Amino acid sequence: MTFTLAIVGRPNVGKSTLFNRLAGKRLAIVDDTPGVTRDRRMAEGRIADLEFRLIDTAGLEEGDPGSLSDRMRKQTEAAIEEADVAILLYDARVGLTTMDEHFAKLLRRSKTPIILAANKCEGKFIQQGIYEAYALGMGDPIALSAEHGEGLGDLYQALVETL
Ligand code: GDP
Ligand code: MG
Repeated sequence: MTFTLAIVGRPNVGKSTLFNRLAGKRLAIVDDTPGVTRDRRMAEGRIADLEFRLIDTAGLEEGDPGSLSDRMRKQTEAAIEEADVAILLYDARVGLTTMDEHFAKLLRRSKTPIILAANKCEGKFIQQGIYEAYALGMGDPIALSAEHGEGLGDLYQALVETL
């Protein structure tokens, strides 16, 4: 079986690092939505025997932290609409921010299943950053380190359970 996995979340949480970690061959991007093509990357992704289409969303600008820019909202909506499952990534070292909550709100409105994942969890366990996430009501976050390739077994498990 093959499926499409989108990585979404605010700038700087490590989406592209996770994309690069999971990505094999890059895929051409075809999208009619203005701005979306420029803002996304796609690849064939893999974790062990799971193979999927992978979408990275850009979120280049920080913008107003109190809301999501139209561009960020549009590309996130386009990605999750196209995806069979999406990872909402946040930074466990920073903890939850208002912007993470905006992303969570946006994703809760969609029918696409969401896997919440806390990134930058290598080394000492970032307990506070993990704990805070329960407030989102999206279940237990998966602890990842995209940079160090940690937590991919748990991500694999979550994907298999979600699909
Ligand atoms: P994006 O804006 O969400 O795509 O985030 P990037 O992938 O560009 O990463 C933003 C920053 O976080 C970069 O400096 C990365 O090196 C760093 N980063 C990404 N993953 C990890 C991680 O697992 N641990 C730590 N400590 N830093 C990370
Ligand atoms: Mg990026």
